[in-house]
Amino acid sequence: MNMVQSGKSNYIAGEWVDANDFSENRNPSNLGDLVGLYARASIEQTQQAIEAAKAALPEWTGASPQLRAEILERVGIELMARRDELGELLSREEGKILSEGVGEVTRAAQLFKFYAQEALRVEGLAIASIRPGVRVEVRHEPVGVVGIITPWNFPIAIPAWKIAPALAYGNTVVFKPADLTPGCGWALAEILSRSGLPAGAFNLVMGRGSVVGDLIVRSAGVNAVTFTGSEATGRSIRTIVAERGGKIQQEMGGKSPLVVLDDANLENAIDCAIGGSVVSTGQRCTSNTRIIATPAIHDALAEGMAARARQLVVGNALDPTTQIGPVVDQKQLDTNLRYLDVADDEGAQRLCGGEILEREHPGFYLSPAVYADCTNDMVHVREEIFGPVVSVLKAGSYEEALAVANDSPLGLSSGICTTSLKYAEDFKSRSTSGMVFVNLPTAGVDYHVPFGGRKASSYGPREQGRAARDFFTNSKTAYTNPL
Ligand code: NAD
Repeated sequence: MNMVQSGKSNYIAGEWVDANDFSENRNPSNLGDLVGLYARASIEQTQQAIEAAKAALPEWTGASPQLRAEILERVGIELMARRDELGELLSREEGKILSEGVGEVTRAAQLFKFYAQEALRVEGLAIASIRPGVRVEVRHEPVGVVGIITPWNFPIAIPAWKIAPALAYGNTVVFKPADLTPGCGWALAEILSRSGLPAGAFNLVMGRGSVVGDLIVRSAGVNAVTFTGSEATGRSIRTIVAERGGKIQQEMGGKSPLVVLDDANLENAIDCAIGGSVVSTGQRCTSNTRIIATPAIHDALAEGMAARARQLVVGNALDPTTQIGPVVDQKQLDTNLRYLDVADDEGAQRLCGGEILEREHPGFYLSPAVYADCTNDMVHVREEIFGPVVSVLKAGSYEEALAVANDSPLGLSSGICTTSLKYAEDFKSRSTSGMVFVNLPTAGVDYHVPFGGRKASSYGPREQGRAARDFFTNSKTAYTNPL
């Protein structure tokens, strides 16, 4: 018997505040399973959260780094201790398989622990002036109130990689999780509410992007907005924040290429091509959805990918034998089916999958699809689908494969499978994406190094690792003439 989580309140100014409107959160593996009812914040409550975050700034920006470190460490310890329970909640609401759910909560814990230590390392620079006797310092100061808007596909790791550095560097937070997956956001807020933070330093406002998110974006009281989500939403909010003089950072969609050269290890290439695409139901921004193979390996790769995809067990995310969970909701399933029709119509060859599956309980089950005979001008190859669909393209040479890989408006991640050091090094230099992988899937990143893309995939400073400081602080240059 699954527990119904009680998320009927938002967390504002250190209090749990009831709402009049709720979203119903259902398990995509079993639509009869109600994960919980979650409060949708009103405009007034969102405004109160922003004001509370502003009021808490003096106390939190003035708090000692030791206190910040201890609070963040406490959150990390609790997340780690509860990773099985919270991982199950994550899998229930989002549909990723249990091992991935537990892995994601573990990652969230690691992020809090990492930024606990970073709170102690807010370094500056002291440098000699060009004027004799004058001293120059570069300091890094909190930005102020940070609005955090996150997507549904990593409902605890992405909030963690934004909330932890925001707090570590002395900012206060107004956090809006995705309407589709509020459960993990609520659980994280509940932990933060007991962590020792001053009232108002962290606020949770769940609800619709068009209501809660829109106010965060437009409010002059929010000094900086960090957003992860679709390219369309990202584009629409960017100018609003910029025009009112706010700071903005965005991570958005991807259509990442994986080049496979004739000299690649075939088994490894199949692992990367399938493991980085349809696994996780294809619901990762960094998925390698465009596989670009040179002629001698192309056919074996495409056939091997289809054979591997056919073997993958699609089922209930909580069943330990499942390898691919359901699609997150009906809307995303409809999008996937529409793109499958487009791919069929534009002449791609469907080698396997793309079928709705029936399982013990009603859910959004779709078998992973592998397409061959694709070209880079096809709509399903150019646009992000965000489902378990992967396209194989043929390129005559390494140079042609590189050109096809770079021919995309998006540039989040890219990869190459090769045993040639020469091509691996060349690809790392000439790829136009923000992250590059050699003999690895393009999805699957570390948390202590910069994360982010180029072109339309990203905007503003990098996330994660020490790079997060660039967004979550403002630099100040101080000149002193010691008389
Ligand atoms: P989405 O753009 O629909 O929503 C993202 C967030 O923005 C949600 O919290 C939503 O409520 C909010 N929002 C929607 N409209 C808004 C508005 N007008 N003003 C303010 N906020 C608003 O994206 P999604 O469907 O939740 O997530 C999937 C997308 O996220 C995919 O495109 C995926 O590639 C991308 N993504 C990118 C990364 C990355 O790091 N690059 C990581 C994960 C997901």
